[in-house]
Amino acid sequence: MDMNYSEADLAFREEVRSFLKDKLTDRLKTGVERTPGVFVEPDIGLEWHQILHEQGWISHRWPVEFGGKGWTPMQTYILEKEFAIANAPRPAPISLGLIGPVLCRYGTPEQQAKFLPRIRSGEDFWAQGYSEPSSGSDLASLSMSAELIDGKYILNGSKIWTTHAQHANWIFCLVRTQVSEKKQAGITFLLVPMDQAGIEVTPIVSMSGDHEVNQVFFDNAQTRLENRVGEEGQGWEIAKFLLQNERGGSCFAPRMLVSIDSLEKAANNIANSDGSTMNNDGDFKRRLAKLKLRALALEFTELRIQADIANGRPAGPITSLTKLVYSNLSQDVQTLRNELYGYDGLQLPYDRPLYADDAPQAVGGAAAQVSLASFLNGRASTIYGGSNEVQKNIIAKRILGL
Ligand SMILES: Cc1cc2nc3c(=O)[nH]c(=O)nc-3n(C[C@H](O)[C@H](O)[C@H](O)COP(=O)(O)OP(=O)(O)OC[C@H]3O[C@@H](n4cnc5c(N)ncnc54)[C@H](O)[C@@H]3O)c2cc1C
Repeated sequence: MDMNYSEADLAFREEVRSFLKDKLTDRLKTGVERTPGVFVEPDIGLEWHQILHEQGWISHRWPVEFGGKGWTPMQTYILEKEFAIANAPRPAPISLGLIGPVLCRYGTPEQQAKFLPRIRSGEDFWAQGYSEPSSGSDLASLSMSAELIDGKYILNGSKIWTTHAQHANWIFCLVRTQVSEKKQAGITFLLVPMDQAGIEVTPIVSMSGDHEVNQVFFDNAQTRLENRVGEEGQGWEIAKFLLQNERGGSCFAPRMLVSIDSLEKAANNIANSDGSTMNNDGDFKRRLAKLKLRALALEFTELRIQADIANGRPAGPITSLTKLVYSNLSQDVQTLRNELYGYDGLQLPYDRPLYADDAPQAVGGAAAQVSLASFLNGRASTIYGGSNEVQKNIIAKRILGL
């Protein structure tokens, strides 16, 4: 694989940089800097979404016939990297990265015509209804039922850990339409409107003070037959397609490298116990260098995946490897950041959003203020999208053949 940028890549990088210089406002950057959680709130995310939509870049990864850009994998990577360096928000990943590609691949022409433009414009905001109180890692054991009566599915049960369900007007759900010996066989994939009497969203506030996840209750909720994706019983196949996008669709390394660089810069201004600054602390420097090496190794693996995709080889189970490495690495970066900020890193404001005018004043700067909340919030990264143990099982079985 040629790791050098071609002339065309360099020209594309310039185009991305000048777009960012022009359009990425201080308000949007502050929104990202002062958000401890994984996803920015919709006020920041949707503003950026509109800007990307106007630019024609919002669904750049989708197939060209549905609004994709047909960029090379290297161009996609350059975009992700430049966006990370500039601290740009990540627009609605569940809408654009999960349900969008599912509808491109498995949706009927009517579903594609109805939903894809509304995802691109930001008119629809989607939530992911996979996990249930008794089904997480063993997702195929899910029990939320859907019964087809007079052209409508009637849904009963509950979904949990549903990210941003409080903002969503649609949710896609894996439901049980048949109880069969093989648990994967009776699962169906449904699109469900959130605005109806049979759906209740209950917040779950995490120990970091963030309201990102929810439990969603379905009590005779309804959705029309035309909102079924694929056939009855095809849900498990679609679920697996989506999970592979969830685990490997992103480029994790650029944001990691930017976070590590920001620690290096911050260390120039933080006092060490010997009277100098932390950038002279041997232990800190050693730990920082190790993190950087791990992030660079991840970047090369991600570039390798991009090269495979460019050569027509789907990413497959290696996305479990990048998800595993990223989630451990991000937690280690958060740990070092918190130690670096010392006492200032112990503040834990529960007010949200922290970029609001009336938010508490930061002690020791914005990065110190979100440090502990982001450390606590980040404990979830080794759980969501499939826990570390589950990723290790996949790697053992499907990559190592054990
Ligand atoms: C912040 C956050 C956001 C989320 N957002 C969403 C969302 O939007 N939509 C959604 O559907 N879900 C979401 N989830 C749910 C997430 O996918 C599940 O939490 C995850 O799949 C683990 O399931 P569980 O919580 O039921 O844990 P369990 O499956 O009960 O696992 C408990 C422990 O047992 C281990 N374990 C389980 N099975 C095995 C095994 N076979 N071998 C070895 N160890 C095992 C696990 O690794 C874990 O440590 C989110 C979770 C979090 C934390």
